[in-house]
Amino acid sequence: MEKEKKVVTLAYGCQMSERDAETLKQITRQEGYTSSDDLASADLVIINTCCVRESAENKILGKIGELKRLKEKNPNLKIAISGCMVQQPGALEKLQKRAPHIDIWTGTHNLHEFSALLHKAEQGEKAAEVWKEPQKTLESTPLAEKGKLQANVNIMYGCNNFCSYCIVPHVRGRERSRKPEEIIQEIKDLVASGCREVTLLGQNVNSYGKEFSPPYDFADLLQEVDQIPGLLRVRFITSHPKDLSDKLISVVASGEKLCEHFHLPIQSGSNFILERMNRKYTREYYLSRISKIRELLPQASLTTDIIVGFPGESETDFEQTLEIMNLIQYSHAFTFMYSKRSGTLAADMEDQIPLDIKKRRLQRLMSVQNAQSLEWRQRMIGKTYEILVEGPSKTNPERFTGRTRGNELVVFKGNSNIIGSLVNIQIIEASTWTLVGEIVNPEM
Ligand code: SAM
Ligand code: SF4
Repeated sequence: MEKEKKVVTLAYGCQMSERDAETLKQITRQEGYTSSDDLASADLVIINTCCVRESAENKILGKIGELKRLKEKNPNLKIAISGCMVQQPGALEKLQKRAPHIDIWTGTHNLHEFSALLHKAEQGEKAAEVWKEPQKTLESTPLAEKGKLQANVNIMYGCNNFCSYCIVPHVRGRERSRKPEEIIQEIKDLVASGCREVTLLGQNVNSYGKEFSPPYDFADLLQEVDQIPGLLRVRFITSHPKDLSDKLISVVASGEKLCEHFHLPIQSGSNFILERMNRKYTREYYLSRISKIRELLPQASLTTDIIVGFPGESETDFEQTLEIMNLIQYSHAFTFMYSKRSGTLAADMEDQIPLDIKKRRLQRLMSVQNAQSLEWRQRMIGKTYEILVEGPSKTNPERFTGRTRGNELVVFKGNSNIIGSLVNIQIIEASTWTLVGEIVNPEM
């Protein structure tokens, strides 16, 4: 009998990267590989990469170095590096020179051709292919993995916004929206396989369908997804503030399964910096969007992304960011130090901020946000929330975890019969990152 072939797939970066890694995992399954977490016994290791910040790239380069030692022990091991880092203009040659032990290199636009590259590597040849442009959408590649409680569903690819700090449009191409009927069908098939929650993915979901005629936008899509029988929850990321329409907020407010959570990256609270970032909104406009959300959905959770130390950011600009955070009170914020990305407009801006200042600002920002996240969760104590039970906690198998509609993580005593169902939980304890609760109807 032929030995079972094992693949370990690692993803760095955003949900899109995780979703691409899932596509690669499914392609390898069709090629006879079984998924595993054990690097030591793997026949194939795939790393789907991220290049949004230098820190991510450094981590990945470290991992690639580690895999060299693994390959020295197991010369039959094949290693594939895919995704954004490889897709950067001129990156492939540099990476190949730096890591000659890698067998397969592929960019973001030709993932669906991975089988052909794998066959070549299995024959002992090196395989490298990076398409400059996306030639077709990925409709024909494996859809989201079936049989899981939660699934990420791509609704669009690429980005047209060219925020001046960001490499994403350079490595993922221009915006392409999938057809609504294909998205709906994919979700129906997922639900039939046991999925209860979907997250609709796009770099800017609010500009979904801009190219469609007759007009059909993201709010229209959400309304349709909300009607799918058997589905319990719908989430979506990421919303660009400039395109967040009143229609979309009202649709979320009136939807049954549409979760009241907006991830609305602000990036900075200073109009001067927002303009240099090419974000195409002002702090006043952003605040008007928050007011609209709070008017229609007073319970909605708001999360955000913030960059500190963007070129030219003065102490006053930074204070304006702290001030707007205090005004808004996010339930969570992803906070980053600006990282220079070659090929982006901001990389050539003068007045780059020294590392020590960036570090100091990040520390201040994080301590303000941590205090707010804690206060947000403390305000939830005593109240009852609907939780989708996900499974046993990783650290304590007697405890179970799930999330509120606002995406806050809750830990509680439960049993495996309730996995995948909605339960009402009263919050009894809160910390910065998690909540502890009790099931309100324990006879369930
Ligand atoms: N499309 C999403 C949006 O517009 O909000 C975000 C995509 S990006 C992968 C996630 C976050 O990374 C951004 O919101 C931004 O805060 C951060 N980011 C992107 N480029 C960065 C850079 N050069 N340095 C630091 N943070 C960066
Ligand atoms: Fe990057 Fe801006 Fe596009 Fe988001 S909207 S992916 S931050 S360019």
